Amino acid sequence: MIEIRDLKVDYGDTIAVDGISFQVEAGQIYGLIGPNGAGKTTTIKAIATLLEPTYGEISVGGASAIHDPEKTRGMIGYMPDFPPVYEDLKVWEFVDLFAAAYGLPVEKRAFEVNRCLEVTDLVTKRNVLCKTLSRGMKQRALLAKTLVHEPPVLLLDEPAANLDPKARIEMRNLLKRLAQEGKAILVSSHVLTELQDLCDSIGIMREGRMVIDGKLDEVIDQASATRTIQVELLHPFPEAYLLLMEHPHAHPLEDTNENSVSLVVNFDGEVEDVANLLRSLVERGAPVKSFHERKAGVEELFLSVEAGGQS
Ligand code: ATP
Repeated sequence: MIEIRDLKVDYGDTIAVDGISFQVEAGQIYGLIGPNGAGKTTTIKAIATLLEPTYGEISVGGASAIHDPEKTRGMIGYMPDFPPVYEDLKVWEFVDLFAAAYGLPVEKRAFEVNRCLEVTDLVTKRNVLCKTLSRGMKQRALLAKTLVHEPPVLLLDEPAANLDPKARIEMRNLLKRLAQEGKAILVSSHVLTELQDLCDSIGIMREGRMVIDGKLDEVIDQASATRTIQVELLHPFPEAYLLLMEHPHAHPLEDTNENSVSLVVNFDGEVEDVANLLRSLVERGAPVKSFHERKAGVEELFLSVEAGGQS
């Protein structure tokens, strides 16, 4: 639904986005992560047709955002990073204003506004003024107006910013539901743990470039060239420790010794080597209580990108 190819955006002498490519399919939630100034908002604005790229192609639902911006806008629901709510409108009026702006027929508007208030759990607030809403409720009202013309593509710039943990979980569940209905969702965030739980795919940007991009599991696999394996034993078993010491792919951590019941090693082998290691331990009679493989999470990955790694 969204296809970005070789996108470049300059602001005068500043190269904000420097030749990035990625795609988001229907039913998918794609997370754009990066430190401040990485180019996330610029990328989202270019897809929303609010900025003209210097170079590259943006296609939304088969339409070119550059050559056919009108058609593209009809398919997009865009929630900017610092969105205004019209404080003196009632919640339903706020959503209705956007329904009218998108040209929904008058007889359909009330139905669509109610549908969006239901989806965002704002039915009980429909008649209150926007200015009386809590921050989390304002975010939901903004999402309601973003959904009112039933766009197949959602562009959400930091939608969970400033939300408390409960509101974040609600927002996450709502976005997952919308993805299950078939929407293609592009979301940016600094809340890395949120993205890890939310997205199918991620792209990590730094200084305008896409440093890492792909399905979440693949990205984590690719990032964690070294795995950490933790073996818990029922009781100390020196032979297990010796086996790990001699293993070509295992590198026991400092506080692991032959009397440990918890053996922790860095492991630079492939998945098959992990399975073989477990088999060897069991064949030697090691009393293995648990065998656990840990990989780097998105957070470690992001920190390594921020520090200049993974380039
Ligand atoms: P943040 O997480 O802080 O919102 P971001 O990843 O969204 O950052 P952008 O806002 O896209 O990053 O900014 C990318 C680069 O473009 C930065 O160097 C920023 O200073 C620059 N930039 C953004 N908007 C403008 C503008 N209107 N004029 C000039 N430079 C800009």
